Amino acid sequence: MARRDLYAALGVTRGSSADEIKKAYRSLARRYHPDRNDGNEEAAERFRDIAEAYETLSNPELRARYDRLGPLYRPDGRPPSPDEVSDWVSDTIGSVFRKRRPEQGEDLRYTLSIDLEAVATGGERTIEVRRQKVCTTCRGSGADPNGGEQTCTHCGGSGKVGGRRLLRNKCPHCSGTGKIVVRKCPTCAGAGRAEVVETLKVRIPKGVATGQKLKLRGKGNDPRSPGETGDLYVIISVNEHALFKRRGTDLYCVVPITYGQATLGADLTVPTIDGKTTIRVPPGTESGKVLRLAGRGLPTMKGGRSGDMHLELHVEIPQTVSPKQRQAIESLDKLLGNETHPLRSEFIENMGKR
Ligand SMILES: [Zn+2]
Ligand SMILES: [Zn+2]
Repeated sequence: MARRDLYAALGVTRGSSADEIKKAYRSLARRYHPDRNDGNEEAAERFRDIAEAYETLSNPELRARYDRLGPLYRPDGRPPSPDEVSDWVSDTIGSVFRKRRPEQGEDLRYTLSIDLEAVATGGERTIEVRRQKVCTTCRGSGADPNGGEQTCTHCGGSGKVGGRRLLRNKCPHCSGTGKIVVRKCPTCAGAGRAEVVETLKVRIPKGVATGQKLKLRGKGNDPRSPGETGDLYVIISVNEHALFKRRGTDLYCVVPITYGQATLGADLTVPTIDGKTTIRVPPGTESGKVLRLAGRGLPTMKGGRSGDMHLELHVEIPQTVSPKQRQAIESLDKLLGNETHPLRSEFIENMGKR
């Protein structure tokens, strides 16, 4: 981690040329070289700093990145970790307080099943979610609030070990908190967090579809140490509907009708997503004919034009008939004769010509 000024380490400025940097490095490296400073710890450390600084400033690419990132620059090119950012921030503001690594609480998922009708209307649902929240007794420390916590003797409460600021590491005894738990919190048994069941309201947008995620910011788990609470993702699952199939914003419905209705025409009551309506089936309707009700499908999420309802008329052929019904149908067939079935008549005629 490079948090000091690399230019200052070599005694040059941001405007210095590559040549000037090289010259400065050579002269300093000679002066502080371990071979010429037998056992001198300070010189050795200085030499390391010089070498590190030169490694970055002699490489145009690394130098440009250092110029851009300043104290957050890392020689390996990785983005700075939250720990480094927070170290840098607190160093910058000169904080002497112990700091904890900012952490992110876990995100949570909740699958919410809704009916197709709710897709049409939108609305609100109440859900119950199990979340980890910071224990209110110990405020997350995990220690009994009555003297359950002591200052870490290893690091003196700073949470850091190691001599120079550059080389300091998180204290392994207190994990960088500066405190040691000597008696656990009676409420959370030292976990620092406790599970709560929370009732939350979820707003369902019109037009939502299965698989879509609704994000409830900050409704996930609290982190184990100070930081940001995770988010809750509510994943929508739209239930199968007994009557309607959905394709985008369009709805499809198969409407069975009788032979008599198809032949003579009829006024039919059909379902819509928000109730019922009456449609006119014209006389002589073939099975498979689709009637479209414009704008009676589902709304879009963006509030544009709604989809359509497609009603597919399906002439239902009886699968079993009583002897009396059989008689009636046979006599009806005779009565209708060939002239009421022009397609069948033509078919028979064409077959006869062969
Ligand atoms: Zn410690
Ligand atoms: Zn607690």
